[in-house]
Amino acid sequence: MIPYGRHHIDEDDVAAVVEVLRKGPLTQGRHVEEFESAVAEYVGARYAVAVASGTAGLHLAALAAGVGQGDRLITSPITFVASSNAALYVGAAPDFVDVDASTINMSAEALRAVRSHERVKAIIPVHFAGLPCDMVEIKRIADSWGAAVIEDAAHALGARYADGSRVGSCAHSLMTIFSFHPVKAIAAGEGGMITTNDKATYRRLLRLRSHGINKLDDPLQWPEQAGRNGEQYPWYYEMQELGYHFRITDIQCALARSQLRKLDSFLARRRQLVAQYDHAIETVVHCRPAQSGGRELSGHHLYVLRIDFAASGVSRAKLMTELRSREIGTQVHYIPVPAQPLYRRMGFRPEDYVQANAYYDQALSIPLFYDLTDDQQHRVIAALREILS
Ligand SMILES: *Cc1c(COP(=O)(O)O)cnc(C)c1O
Repeated sequence: MIPYGRHHIDEDDVAAVVEVLRKGPLTQGRHVEEFESAVAEYVGARYAVAVASGTAGLHLAALAAGVGQGDRLITSPITFVASSNAALYVGAAPDFVDVDASTINMSAEALRAVRSHERVKAIIPVHFAGLPCDMVEIKRIADSWGAAVIEDAAHALGARYADGSRVGSCAHSLMTIFSFHPVKAIAAGEGGMITTNDKATYRRLLRLRSHGINKLDDPLQWPEQAGRNGEQYPWYYEMQELGYHFRITDIQCALARSQLRKLDSFLARRRQLVAQYDHAIETVVHCRPAQSGGRELSGHHLYVLRIDFAASGVSRAKLMTELRSREIGTQVHYIPVPAQPLYRRMGFRPEDYVQANAYYDQALSIPLFYDLTDDQQHRVIAALREILS
């Protein structure tokens, strides 16, 4: 079976994990910090905080941006549910603006047209399939509203903005989050990262990741119980606010650090496969790439097609089933979040997001991953060609 996405593990990765298992510590050791430094350096951010998952990263980012009860948080309807759930975790109201039809990223125009920006505390643009959003415009709008920008870059490790800097450098945001789920650019098993250039935000993230207990040289809130007669208690710690246990282990970070060394070769192969798909798809009827423009900057997490199923006379369910019988896995990224029952019960209607809805009717992600061979790719294209014609 050819899946739509898959991680690549080699002997270096195995050795990195085994070394942690042999030598320890298994958690809260140097591998976490080493991986954080490596990611910060790779993306060009001052600080990085590794967490248990991308979802935990979004949750902590919303907290650290000061989003809470009564606030609003705006994201894209075409994303994984975690982007908007971050609002719900902190007691805020999620909201959506439509996507741009040619990029499937949050439309800056739709964002600007939001009727009231009262209490919009954060905006979470999602670099869909790895293609960077129009961050200059989004940041400009956010600034004019006094809202923080948190980039959901779960798809976009290694991607670049138009100016050549890397996604995660936070040149246009307060924070950026990444995911290291095995289907993403590099694998940790489960894991996530938040990058920022803001020192206060960094310190708050460190506390929130671990129960809200003081970190680094956080000033004590209750110094009178930290010692007596000029003697400091060496055991003393303070829980200064409600935090979480969102830490990641050294086992995971050793694996992810090893994976990061291969990221550029992963990206190069993905780019090559994408160019080959683009070329071949031109001659497949009713089919086109879902995203156009600026794709040389993309992290190429997914290869998404838009297929005119109505014109082809083949339903998407039928196409997926036919492909599956040929051992080709496909997926739909994503069902618009406003269509999810929880969000419908909150009053959202997917039909309010016209471009997102039109995209959803036609979307299909076909296999794209480092180990996909040219032969396998030819099989995918040949099968599409056959079924759709
Ligand atoms: C994968 C993903 C997440 C969540 O990451 P996890 O590490 O699985 O928690 C968030 N947003 C988007 C867009 C994702 O694809």
